[in-house]
Amino acid sequence: MVKTALITGITGQDGYYLSRLLLKQGYRVAGLMPPQRQASLARLGELANEIKVCAVDLTDAPGLLAVVEQLQPQEIYNLAAPSFVPDSWNDPLGTLDLVTGTATRLLAAVRQLGIDTRFYQASSSEMFGKVDCSPQDEDTPFRPMNPYAAAKVHAHWTMVHHRQRYGLFACSGILYNHESSRRPPAFVTRKVSLAAAAIKLGLSQNLEMGNLDAKRDWGYAGDHVKAMWRMLQVDQPEDYVIGTGELHSVRQLVTTAFESVGLDWTRYVVVDPKFLRPDEHFQLVANPAKAKRNLEWEPQVSFEVLIEKMVLKDLERLQSGAISASGLRQIPH
Ligand code: NAP
Repeated sequence: MVKTALITGITGQDGYYLSRLLLKQGYRVAGLMPPQRQASLARLGELANEIKVCAVDLTDAPGLLAVVEQLQPQEIYNLAAPSFVPDSWNDPLGTLDLVTGTATRLLAAVRQLGIDTRFYQASSSEMFGKVDCSPQDEDTPFRPMNPYAAAKVHAHWTMVHHRQRYGLFACSGILYNHESSRRPPAFVTRKVSLAAAAIKLGLSQNLEMGNLDAKRDWGYAGDHVKAMWRMLQVDQPEDYVIGTGELHSVRQLVTTAFESVGLDWTRYVVVDPKFLRPDEHFQLVANPAKAKRNLEWEPQVSFEVLIEKMVLKDLERLQSGAISASGLRQIPH
């Protein structure tokens, strides 16, 4: 039987890698997106032709119910969210409605229809927020520190309630930062990969950075989406912390990125306090032992290989004119 997967946020980074994985496995893949966001489909490149587009606003509960009823998907992946966490301060209510509202509406549709659909909720390590232990695992308490994280916690518990009260196969992956050449440039890994490539080509002179000692658990998006899929293939719905379990500093990030194009970063990186983010001292790092044990999941792509690949892809894009030096700061994905 051909399985159907329904994905929100399909035009984002994870949507791309997840769709690619599912299509390779023979799934029929459908993307739920508001009509006004369909221009984003271009980001999926050749995959866009293989995906069924369901044009529905994610706030439209009857519209979502109708799509779920029509498709009867075996799996739903709820990935839609604001791209950049700091933006959630500008629109806390919109963030709550998108993140929590969409999860609630989709779970309600599955429950109401009484169909056998497995549900994945894209949770985030941001939910741990102000941590007082490292590494974090599935038992670490949530202490969200921004509207995005608070909305993700609400969506997570809504999903848990549907599992406990209504017996739905619903689970959440609490994912740490995961990157790729599809990350928007607002994120530090892509900002650095773009800068290293642009400087190598003489299109830029320097790179302004904040705290070089800040550390993150950075993984590869292509690895992390495999964990999402595996969570829906096992017998029991459970939640999983997904990360590499390794911390790397921003200094290691710039060193790796610049070295991959034969440059000495100390000649180009300028530390500017205006880019310092608050709360840099929190050490969010995963303990992915449960995922290793139950899902046989382990990251395959190392930090060094990931960053090198990102820089080389940006070098290729700049050389081919796919992105221009003048538009470096405007590139959406
Ligand atoms: P992303 O690249 O920013 O993609 C976000 C997706 O959500 C895009 O398809 C975007 O559509 C869509 N979206 C945004 N606002 C929307 C709205 N109002 N209505 C409908 N769709 C909307 O994010 P990602 O990196 O793939 O992450 C996927 C999920 O994992 C998100 O829920 C994120 O919070 C979570 N997560 C990500 C990370 C990470 O490190 N990447 C870590 C933990 C959790 P457009 O393309 O039209 O903008």
